[in-house]
Amino acid sequence: MTSSPVDPSSGAAATATERIRNVALIGHNGAGKTTLAECLLVKAGALKRGGRVEDGTTACDSEPEEVKRRQSLSLAVVPFEWKGHRVNLIDAPGYADFTAEAESALDVADLAVLVVSAVEGVEAQTETLWRLAAERDLPRVVFVNKLDRDHASFDRTVQQLKDRLGAGFEVLELPLGEEQTFHGVADLLTESAFVYDSGSRETAAIPDELVEREHLEHDHLVEDIVSGDDQMLERFLDGDIPTATELERTLAQEVDLDLVFPVLCGSATKGVAVDLLADFLVDVGPAPTDRPGRTVEAGDNVVEVLPDASGPPLALVFKTIADPFVGQLSLFRVLSGTIRGDDRLTNSRSGVEERLHGLFRPFGKEQHPVDALVAGDIGAVAKLSNTRTGDTLTPKGKPVRVPKRAEAAPAYQIAIVARTQSDEDKLSTALGRLLEEDPSLSVIHAEQTHQTLLGGAGDAHLQVALERLARKFGVEVGTEPVKIPYLETIAGAATAEGRYKKQSGGHGQFGVATVEVEALPRGAGFEFVDQIVGGAIPRQFIPAVEKGIVEAMTTGGLKGFPVVDVRVRCVDGKHHAVDSSEMSFKMAGSLGFKEALAKAGTLVLEPISHVLVRVPTDLQGDVLGDVNARRGRVQGTESLGDGTSQISALVPDAELQRYALDLRSMSHGRGWFTRNHDHYDVMPAPLASKLGEASAG
Ligand code: GDP
Repeated sequence: MTSSPVDPSSGAAATATERIRNVALIGHNGAGKTTLAECLLVKAGALKRGGRVEDGTTACDSEPEEVKRRQSLSLAVVPFEWKGHRVNLIDAPGYADFTAEAESALDVADLAVLVVSAVEGVEAQTETLWRLAAERDLPRVVFVNKLDRDHASFDRTVQQLKDRLGAGFEVLELPLGEEQTFHGVADLLTESAFVYDSGSRETAAIPDELVEREHLEHDHLVEDIVSGDDQMLERFLDGDIPTATELERTLAQEVDLDLVFPVLCGSATKGVAVDLLADFLVDVGPAPTDRPGRTVEAGDNVVEVLPDASGPPLALVFKTIADPFVGQLSLFRVLSGTIRGDDRLTNSRSGVEERLHGLFRPFGKEQHPVDALVAGDIGAVAKLSNTRTGDTLTPKGKPVRVPKRAEAAPAYQIAIVARTQSDEDKLSTALGRLLEEDPSLSVIHAEQTHQTLLGGAGDAHLQVALERLARKFGVEVGTEPVKIPYLETIAGAATAEGRYKKQSGGHGQFGVATVEVEALPRGAGFEFVDQIVGGAIPRQFIPAVEKGIVEAMTTGGLKGFPVVDVRVRCVDGKHHAVDSSEMSFKMAGSLGFKEALAKAGTLVLEPISHVLVRVPTDLQGDVLGDVNARRGRVQGTESLGDGTSQISALVPDAELQRYALDLRSMSHGRGWFTRNHDHYDVMPAPLASKLGEASAG
């Protein structure tokens, strides 16, 4: 049974901005986000019946790679209507490899619902996604899920939230019953109980055993809400008790300001209290108009854009889906103005005018036509010719741009090789399309090693990319180990004579160049000094000597790696009036240089990256030990005050190839790192001696 949407044409009209709620569902893999989305859709009547994650029939997880793994790998937008509002639910993947996709969801949401399993509690990705939402000052609410499961505990989970994620959590509901007997919640704001024994909500009395605790927690909640509003506090202290509606309004303001993070609870599979979450989204959750304006770049200036439906049309593309049959689909949020199906908008990055051929509302993998979308809403357009994720669509002549997220070097890379010539021919176009879809992937054609490197967050990220490459574009690739682009330099100094002499009938070839080769400081590159006096080598042939040396450096030193950081003085030479030519001096330069290298020997230089690792402080010792074992040089450690520490280190690239995977397992998914190339340094001789010419590529 696949989940089936109710009348696809419903909602073709634009919803007023104030009545839109853009909600990202975030949380660790398996917390129940997709099931919760499915349950919300069914409760709202947007789906006739819900699908199941287990058999790949949900509205959110529709790609074959997702069905196979039974987990969300990309975000899915599934809108539903609730109490006269439109909720654009964005189900974000909870697997660490697909964090970039969750970030895209957070970029266009006005509220994040953190789904936490009451069995597993706060997990690694719960922390990561909470932090990413916090970095965006995004209002947040927690839904403690799976309360019907054995070993579920609401209190333990709330305590973990407070211990691991910080202050501001405010419990709004208490569970009624536990594990298999979980059947409803007590709402602390209205002091009413709701039970779901018949499947739908019924009001009930608060059970006797909970009455005392409920009163106590209600009073705490009221005091906490009131203390966040000076006027209300004054009235409260004068004995004027605010109504539940007033409290809810103040709570909404505090949620908007990130002062309070409400905690709700329920069961997504049993449908317990899920409708209360929907109520919360529309009653308390912020509308686009409640959120601060979006900062965009307009040339050298920065301006603020407000979600005003009558303003200039402006849209941010936050997701691109490459479909081999339908073509490209771009999902966007309208930042301002009203977008219509026949608009012409300019892509402010590429400068290309894009004509929209129809407008859609995404519903999982389906698209429902719509005439117009107002500021704050989320929509889709097909077949934009020159637009990719992160681009801004603007009116002609007003090229404003939403600033791009900072991109770090990929944490993990593999080298890919096309299986056949036909795969090879299609590879670069297919990779380009894949990158449009997922900008957190990277493709580098490594010049020195002649490898095509696919980079991403981890092994699963890249495996899914390869599966998509095969499924969507019919391109099959294999993988091979990534080669490190080592370099060589001269170990000391040496003088050598390069003599090139050839006599083959007619006139021959003759050139002699004596060169002194010495090492330069790291990063200095190459210096050629012409010290020829008295015409030992005629002036016009000296550039040829240099050219020969440069070519010899490129083809490689004693181990076949390109040679750098050398100064070569051309000090003497010999020529012949007839037989000398450019070619003979090029050869002489090359031979002399190689001879000097052979005399002095070479050192292998290896690339070193600057690495910033962030881990929970209790793991700092383990990570430092591991960095040392990887021949890393720790430059400093810093406690960041939120229970994490940052370690700064210089580590050889050769030791970092599997670091993304190793750090994840070492830190149980709670550590992450960024890396950037820093410099080249001499590789210890015992290790260098193991490198053969083959590694040079
Ligand atoms: P996601 O990775 O966060 O999207 O989690 P899923 O929605 O895929 O759920 C993971 C598993 O937990 C599935 O087998 C669901 O059926 C199950 N599940 C989700 N919510 C609940 C719940 O409230 N109660 C129980 N018992 N199981 C749940």
